[in-house]
Amino acid sequence: MSDEADIPVESLFPAATERSRLAALLAAELEAAYATMGNGRVTPVEDRRRFATELSRFTFSSPVDLTELLPWLVRQMREGVVQMTHPRYFGLFNPAPGFPSILADHIAAAFNPQLAAAKTAPAATAIEAHVIAQIAHRAGLPAGSAGHFTNSGSEANFTAMTCALTKVCPSYRDTGARAFRTPPAIYISREAHLAWLKIAHQAGIGRLAIRLIDTDGHGRLSPIALAEAVRADTANGAVPVMIVATAGTTVGGMIDPLRASAEIAEQAGAWFHVDAAWGGAAIASDLLRPLLSGIDLADSVTIDAHKWFATTMGCGMFITARPWVLNEAFNIAASFMPTTQSTPDPYTASMLWSRRFLGLRLFLNLAAAGWAGYAHHVDRTVRLSRHLQVKLASCGWETVNPGGMGVLCVKPPAPHRPVREIADAIVSSGEAWIAAATFEGRDVIRICITN
Ligand SMILES: *Cc1c(COP(=O)(O)O)cnc(C)c1O
Repeated sequence: MSDEADIPVESLFPAATERSRLAALLAAELEAAYATMGNGRVTPVEDRRRFATELSRFTFSSPVDLTELLPWLVRQMREGVVQMTHPRYFGLFNPAPGFPSILADHIAAAFNPQLAAAKTAPAATAIEAHVIAQIAHRAGLPAGSAGHFTNSGSEANFTAMTCALTKVCPSYRDTGARAFRTPPAIYISREAHLAWLKIAHQAGIGRLAIRLIDTDGHGRLSPIALAEAVRADTANGAVPVMIVATAGTTVGGMIDPLRASAEIAEQAGAWFHVDAAWGGAAIASDLLRPLLSGIDLADSVTIDAHKWFATTMGCGMFITARPWVLNEAFNIAASFMPTTQSTPDPYTASMLWSRRFLGLRLFLNLAAAGWAGYAHHVDRTVRLSRHLQVKLASCGWETVNPGGMGVLCVKPPAPHRPVREIADAIVSSGEAWIAAATFEGRDVIRICITN
């Protein structure tokens, strides 16, 4: 064999001394990037031509030395993405990730375990199941609640949709949407996350199955409007399949009335799902936890660890008080898969097959910080946003969302430029990242403390 033929293999699988050298080089580059973060831009440099030229040189016709490539890549990440770890990133729930979760990614990547089946990764699947059980317990869900990690909140919400359709109409599993002789209906508020529309599409029941229920004028689902919509649908022969309450809406961080929604779902024979993708981290805080009262009544819950729980992306969780429905929905017999009789295999109880060790991120963050550390983190973001609210009020700015959950929707004193222009000017200055949004029909600037 010639020397050239050896190069690609050694590049992919270098010896120990070379691995250590590259890891140290990368660690130093990352620390240097962090050290200057606060002085630099939050947003990408706008002229991307130089980058496009440099990128086009990668034709992969000859190997490139990682000693040069790693510093180049760190620079591109510094200049070419919005900086989630920047102190002036007031963004869309994307956190500065906790360092233990970064280490978790490193460990998971190094061993690259396959979590589809318990038998191929017994330690990893047990760690994930343990973390899910601890979160379920902390949220007040009944003993025996279970679930799994997902790539995203949307995947967890899709899982909820599949469970609800399967529970309410068991033949949905085999014959799909045709199993419903009258149309299924799903209830979310107007302020809920609109990925639900895509999910209804993908589940085969169509976007029109989603009922966008009016809010109470403060960004929360109106139980009166919900009860009325369910009554009207039932009278018209539609089947109420699922009621979704959002605990921490995406724009305003508002919490829908969880108990009232649970009661209406129970009376209608519908699945009750709580989408706590962002707000779920409030379970860590004794101050905020009472706001989530009623989450314990949920058939299922979505929580994204990659939002307020500050893990690396994406790390969602689907947790259900009725885990057998997961098996009814996703069970499959595959002759080639290793099985154990005692432990359920993730591939028989979830949407995915091949599965990365996502849960290690939350395990390591939680283990390192404890619930007390997370409570401090969550309470601090709320305190900082109160502080900002007071400062803004003293300059005549109005806060229009009353939630108290660490995200502010604010308006400048009149007369003012359109808020979208203000947000665009701030973002393109590179000084900070904020969003223009609409809350209860009003144009607002949305500021979320994420790190
Ligand atoms: C972020 C969010 C989602 C979507 O979660 P992804 O992880 O982005 O897929 C759904 N619902 C709510 C309330 C959210 O905040």
